[in-house]
Order: sequence, then structure tokens, then C-alpha cells
Amino acid sequence: MAALALHPDRLFPADERTRAIARSLYAPIKGLPIVSPHGHTDPAWFAYDQPFANPADLLIVPDHYVLRMLYSQGVKLEAVGIPTVDGSPTQTDPRAIWTIFAAHYHLFRGTPSRAWLDWVFAEVFGIDVRLEPSTADLYYDAIDAALKTPAFRPRALFDRFNIEVIATTESSLDSLDHHKAIRDSGWKGRVVTAYRPDPVVDPEAIGFTDNLAKFGEMAGEDVSTWAGYLRAHENRRAFFRRAGATSTDHGHPTAFTADLPRAECEALYARVRAGKANFAEAELFRGQVLTEMARMAIDDGMVMQLHPGAYRSHNPALLARFGPDKGADIPVAAEFVRNLKPLLDRFGNESALTLILFTLDEDTYSRELAPLAGHYPVLRLGPPWWFHDSPEGMRRFRERATETGGFYNTVGFNDDTRAFLSIPARHDVARRMDCAFLARLVAEHRLEEDEAHEVAHALAYDLVKKAYKL
Ligand SMILES: [Zn+2]
Repeated sequence: MAALALHPDRLFPADERTRAIARSLYAPIKGLPIVSPHGHTDPAWFAYDQPFANPADLLIVPDHYVLRMLYSQGVKLEAVGIPTVDGSPTQTDPRAIWTIFAAHYHLFRGTPSRAWLDWVFAEVFGIDVRLEPSTADLYYDAIDAALKTPAFRPRALFDRFNIEVIATTESSLDSLDHHKAIRDSGWKGRVVTAYRPDPVVDPEAIGFTDNLAKFGEMAGEDVSTWAGYLRAHENRRAFFRRAGATSTDHGHPTAFTADLPRAECEALYARVRAGKANFAEAELFRGQVLTEMARMAIDDGMVMQLHPGAYRSHNPALLARFGPDKGADIPVAAEFVRNLKPLLDRFGNESALTLILFTLDEDTYSRELAPLAGHYPVLRLGPPWWFHDSPEGMRRFRERATETGGFYNTVGFNDDTRAFLSIPARHDVARRMDCAFLARLVAEHRLEEDEAHEVAHALAYDLVKKAYKL
């Protein structure tokens, strides 16, 4: 059996001198609390503190990074327990799912998933041999046994991971009952929500018309008019704020924004609500609502996050059989300079607004995003996201964005994950990569070491708290 050991210098520069600087920058920030301002953990975990079911349900079935790689190499999603839309049978034996995963673990060599999972195996479960077919049962038994103990319940792990605060993401249509249960339980862990209105903002969303009706009901507003629709958002935002939300999240296909006269908004909303909007009108509606969200954010203080550029469910056969979020989302080229202009023309100079931009199109870092964030007071750059939440993605981000945007127009790290156990690993990768980047600046005499220490602390802790008001 091969050993599993995490090297203390992992991700640090290979040359001795820069590596020594990186080590010294990393040592004081390594143990800082985790501030997780955007992610997709399930608030029910923290509300009810039930044990996680089994190794497969915890680590494989919900992880679309894992699913996409397995699928790309011919593993059927039925074989790893993904439920089908039509209810036809899939594998339900978690040990069988784990065995298939172990047989394919070599596929993850060189990927961030491999680094995160190895961290979970070694640091969370104390396993010291590599996952491969011959150790599949050893792994399954060790993880399964651990999950049955109190130390591996969600709240105990939350404390062990030194999480100061974590944000989940809920749609406008969520009752936030789990968040209420967390507050009512008296538990001290800080779990807040974030307002994600996509299901009632995107006319192309599944069930949009029904969503609107439910939205009006939950908000107690008549959403048959544009004015009532906007009031419903204001109402729901206030409800989310009472559950601790400090941010909104917008997962649009593009960064398009609009600022139409009121009469045009009313006419557009009528078409959208009647289900008559064509492709261009749907885009116009999303863009107009984004500008309305900015207006509301100035009033209620919520920080906006815009996550454009994912072509969701690119594989129609997979979508039909298994539904969305199964690893078939693909990045598309993005444009920010012209698309954001209507919103920025109106609100770009407001001191009370923060709009955090993410991208899946790395070309935009140096050409568009760093210049925009390096000028407009409302703009900040979110960390490398999703496909770029990786050591090389982080390196490219710092290399392309820092000289124009600086460090202080960035907002620390987002793990953006549902894979709860991997959260410390993801933040640790970001801390190490930032220290590696700063070490190079110090070694090249572009930044003094005492300043690099301050920046390392800001990137790991201060900037995220400030940007997200946490
Ligand atoms: Zn997200």
C-alpha cells in the first residue's frame, strides 16, 4: 500500500529562497478562522446535527466535480448512485459506489479534487494510505465508522474546522426554516443565508410562472404588476436580512444589465409574466432586474455577487435522465465592459454599494475585470471560481489582476461548495497560493516582507469580512 502524506511545503515555490519566504508568510495565517461568505452547504446539517449517512452519500454523490470526471471516462452515473428523473433504478449500495470511485481515483491526479479529497482523508479521517482499489474497503470502513461518532457530526466538524461564519445560499422561494431552527436551537455557530432570486428573475428558469405566483404569496404582494414584483423582492430581501443575510447572489448567463424607463419595464414584465418573452426579452428582463437589485442593495446594504458565464446543463441527454448540476456545466466567453455599463452609469459611483464580480472566462481578468475594479468604487473582484478554484487558477488570477486592480479590490476566498468536509482544504490551498505569490514579489524586491505579511493576513481574513460585512 502506498502512503498518503500531505507534504508541509505543498504548493510552495520549488526554489529554496522563495519557498522559505512563503513558509514564513504562511505560518502566522495558517490557523486563522475560516470566513466562508458564499457556498452551498445545507443549513439542515447545522440545524439538526444528524450524522452524515455514509461515505458515498457524503463525498461522491453530491460532488459534481467528481461526477464530471468519472462520466468523462465512461462511468455511468447510475453506477455511482445518482437518482434518475424517471425513477429507474440506480446503485443504492454505498460500498459498491465507493468501490467504483476507488477504482477510478487515479483519474483525479493533478486536479484540485484530488488535493481536496486527500486532505479530507488524511486530516479529517486520519487515513495514512493512498486510496486505490486495494484500499477501498479499508477507506469505506474507516470513514463509515468515523461518521457514526459524535466528533463527525456537522456541528462538531464546524467547530473543529474553526469556522467563524459560513453563508449558505437560498432561493427567494425558501422558507428559511432551517436557519430559524439553527437560531432557535441556541447553538453558537454562525450560519447565515444569502438571497438568490434567480428562480424568479430568469424567465427561462424551470417553472418560472409558478415560481412568480409562489413568490407573490410568500411576500404577501400582488405580483401581477412590475411595482408589486419589485415590492416582493424588497419584502423577501428584508426577510433574508432578518435571517442574517448580508449578500445577494445572481447566477446569470451573462453580465448584461439594463436601465429601462418605467413604462418599458412594465410592458416587459407583462410579457415575461405571461410566458411570452423571447430570448432577447428574457435577457433584457434579467439585466433590468440586476439594476433594480443594485438600487435595493443601496437601500438595504446587501452586497451583490454576480456569477455569470456558465452554460448550464450542456448535455441534454444527461439533463433529461438525471436533472441539473451533474457536472455538465461548461464556461462560455464573457463580456463585462459594455454589459455592466447601464448599471454602472446609474450606480457605479455609489459609496453604499458593493458588487462582487466572478468569471469563468480568465481572459477577462486583465482585459476587463481588473481595470473595472481598479476604477469603479462599487466593484470588487471575487476569487477564482469553480473551474479556476485551483492552484494554477489562483496563480493566474493574482498574476493577471494584481498589477491593475491591486490586492485590496479583491475579497479573499470563497469555497463556493457543498462538500462541507473539503472547506478547510480549499481555504488552505488559497492561503498557500497567495503566500507563494507574495513570496515571489518579496524575492524579486517588489514588496517588502513586512507588507507581504499584512497582505497575506488581509487576503486570508480581513478583506472577506469587510467586503461581505460579516
Ligand atoms: Zn455558488
